Amino acid sequence: MSSATNIPQHIHVLAKPTGSRCNLACDYCFFLKKGRLYPDSHFRMNDEVLESYISQLIEAQHNLNVSVAWQGGEPTLMGLDFFRKAIALQEKYRKPGMTFENTIQTNGTLLNDDWCEFFREHHYLVGISLDGPRELHDTHRVDKAGGPTFDRVMAGIRLLQKHGVEYNVLVTVNRTNGAHPLEVYRFLRDEVKTSWIQFIPAIERLNQNGEITLYQQGSTVSERTVTAEQWGHFLITIFDEWVRKDVGKIFVQTFEAMVRAWMKFPSSGMCIFDPVCGHGLAIEHNGDLYSCDHFVEPDYLLGNIQQTPMAEMAGSKQQRTFGLNKAETLPRYCRECEVLFACHGECPRNRFIATPDGEVGLNYLCVGYKAFFNHIDWSIEVLSQLIKQGVDAKNVMQVMQREDAKKDAKMAQVGRNAPCPCGSGLKFKKCHARQQSLFNILR
Ligand code: SF4
Ligand code: SF4
Repeated sequence: MSSATNIPQHIHVLAKPTGSRCNLACDYCFFLKKGRLYPDSHFRMNDEVLESYISQLIEAQHNLNVSVAWQGGEPTLMGLDFFRKAIALQEKYRKPGMTFENTIQTNGTLLNDDWCEFFREHHYLVGISLDGPRELHDTHRVDKAGGPTFDRVMAGIRLLQKHGVEYNVLVTVNRTNGAHPLEVYRFLRDEVKTSWIQFIPAIERLNQNGEITLYQQGSTVSERTVTAEQWGHFLITIFDEWVRKDVGKIFVQTFEAMVRAWMKFPSSGMCIFDPVCGHGLAIEHNGDLYSCDHFVEPDYLLGNIQQTPMAEMAGSKQQRTFGLNKAETLPRYCRECEVLFACHGECPRNRFIATPDGEVGLNYLCVGYKAFFNHIDWSIEVLSQLIKQGVDAKNVMQVMQREDAKKDAKMAQVGRNAPCPCGSGLKFKKCHARQQSLFNILR
């Protein structure tokens, strides 16, 4: 049992009122399998658990801004009345001066005018899961009959736009859309017209029998899983477009986190890139509290809020150890890495391969992250310096254009057999000269 001094200042919880229940059947969804943890359940948070949850969440906060985050499965399957009750309970238990930020992550397919009016009235931030243009989205995000869902998601987004609801887009990057970074990014920017984007990698581990299990086991991955190289290339390609055209207009969660990391903020704002974690818990439909949304497994069950106060479980030794392990289990390869300050070994759930010298516990995405962090170093440093000097961060786009012009001028003077100025080690004619001629053909 924890002492009162161990109770964290601020608790962030992702609530899953329908557990793993969803109206869709996206083939890479890790959470659909979690239904096996509760074999006889109807997967609906009842009124008693809802009231305990909201009252304890409010009680546990030391500051006056409370985040109430709903996720799934598909939370809209609970129906609007459930969320109306949640708002009423926030009012019932509100402390003087307290404000709430309600967020919901949804596939968007069940939204209608009533939902959108409710979101607008209560200032919800709605996260929509969308994997890119139609053919990329429909590859994996299918309904229970295996049918496409793109049109239904887009209809949900248009309704949110019509009602002026604040929304963002979450893209699960898999081996299919991972090969089309600019197509995905430009579609979200130009067609969906979202200004906030999150990218998360789809990683499915396979055990020694080649099966995906309820628990995180195995050091190989499914063929849907994004490769580490692809992930790095995906982030780099989108970053290069963003830093030249969209700074201050489009917000990509990973890039925002990197600016904070380069500016040496205590937290990047994304738990995966922080030295320790354990501040974001997950609550199941029946009140079971887990260490993290990505560790809804028996070994990471902290207890049930109907028996033990949530704040006590959040401050427990078990939870603190969970968070500290992120730093303490880092392999030497990470501890000596030049980009450790930005990466911190990313999320422990992805640390299942061996380092080049055979130590276990390296992040599966390491190669991609190393390439990405090293690639963005110069431009993110420029961006950070501009912000530190109180200059509008958008000026980084002009700096990039000037640098590009200088590079182009340098390239124009290089002999075909000379080493390429980009530093690749190849002859110019085999490297950028070839790319330029290809580019001219494509133009
Ligand atoms: S385990 Fe991963 S997702 Fe969970 S809190 Fe830690 S870093 Fe974040
Ligand atoms: S880039 Fe790779 S080696 Fe460096 S900290 Fe991240 S996971 Fe570790």
